[in-house]
Amino acid sequence: MTCTQCNALSKRTRLRCQAPAIKGKTKCKNHGGRSTGSRTPEGKARQIEANTIHGRETRAIREERSAKLAELYEIEKEMRSMGMVEGSWVSRKPPSR
Ligand SMILES: [Zn+2]
Repeated sequence: MTCTQCNALSKRTRLRCQAPAIKGKTKCKNHGGRSTGSRTPEGKARQIEANTIHGRETRAIREERSAKLAELYEIEKEMRSMGMVEGSWVSRKPPSR
């Protein structure tokens, strides 16, 4: 019989937790395996506020870039309709939300 090992890492030893993870989860009971995350809207908002960085990105940076790329797409579309640009597209159609 196999079970998943908790994938939490120790801050002190940098070693992986030896305990088995909760069924269907990746963490053991000591490392938040029972947690179901934020429940209340306030809690979720707090989480979004506190934990928005993924790599070098934040929501704000991502949204700004998304807006700029949408702008670029519109500019390219306009230039193509006037016959100023030909060939393959440089910008992409922004995702509709
Ligand atoms: Zn653990």
